[in-house]
Amino acid sequence: MHLTSIIPTEPLSHPSLTNFRLEVSVKRLDLVHPEFSGNKFFKLKYNLEKAKSEGKTKILTFGGAFSNHIYATAKAAQTENLQAIGIIRGERTEPLNYTLRSAEESGMQLDFIDRGSYRNKTEPEFLAVLAEKFGDFYLIPEGGTNELAIKGTQEILSHKDSEYTHITTSIGTGGTFSGLFSSLENHQKLLGFSSLKGEFIHGEIADLIKKHHIDGQKLYEIFTNYHFGGYAKHKPELIEFIWWFYENFEIVLDPIYTGKMAYGIWDLIEKNYFPKGSKILMIHTGGRQGNAGFTERTGIKLPTPSM
Ligand SMILES: *Cc1c(COP(=O)(O)O)cnc(C)c1O
Repeated sequence: MHLTSIIPTEPLSHPSLTNFRLEVSVKRLDLVHPEFSGNKFFKLKYNLEKAKSEGKTKILTFGGAFSNHIYATAKAAQTENLQAIGIIRGERTEPLNYTLRSAEESGMQLDFIDRGSYRNKTEPEFLAVLAEKFGDFYLIPEGGTNELAIKGTQEILSHKDSEYTHITTSIGTGGTFSGLFSSLENHQKLLGFSSLKGEFIHGEIADLIKKHHIDGQKLYEIFTNYHFGGYAKHKPELIEFIWWFYENFEIVLDPIYTGKMAYGIWDLIEKNYFPKGSKILMIHTGGRQGNAGFTERTGIKLPTPSM
């Protein structure tokens, strides 16, 4: 099923956009599915189809304690009547945070392993040990990026989106960025905002594009200066910006991914990065399930959907 036609896109209205003569719209992947949404919906879609067509009854994947991917896999497996196993980095601590609690309540079996063993998550020997423990399963890597995930994220943009000059997304593993890049039109430019500290992501993306035979001739730019200290790190300016965005547009952002991207876009707008007349499409990749856990962990309040 092509869901792209029913993803709402909302234009933002703000005096500074008028001043800079820019249009900004938000493609709300966060509203795609009531249970599991965001880019993870697209990344999981064909993986679940494949698992079922291979007759598998179990999905196994990896993640940290606040992982959107773990949360989405648990919800997706439940929806598809598949059993889910989540191999979680670190020790089990009670009470479980919001992400893990929800995953477990959705039927995911959580298995906690120490950080040292977790590093072996792609080693065949380690996967064989897991197969002995859990039986036959369909494996989805940490973060969910594989060939079928990229195939799914190629469906985020639709023909109607060709009116935009710039498409923007947040970046974790780069899977979503690669899928978007392959469906980009020649007159468009893709901007990616890395949530992780470091320049390694340039190489990772180049590798993904090459490995998946994506035409590399189109324009893209990756920003590595909006990570706010690194993955899952935050600063007061970021939290203030997330509240400012919510108060102006009634759209909830998360501090791990979408908040950093939107902050970056606003900063670039103010620095005159975008030529006048640009039409920018921000992809809201979801992630707001993490906001409850973030508040539990830090005590910092964030907008929540029910507000
Ligand atoms: C997982 C996630 C990302 C990163 O996606 P990648 O395909 O790993 O780059 C971005 N935004 C949100 C909200 C996510 O949950």
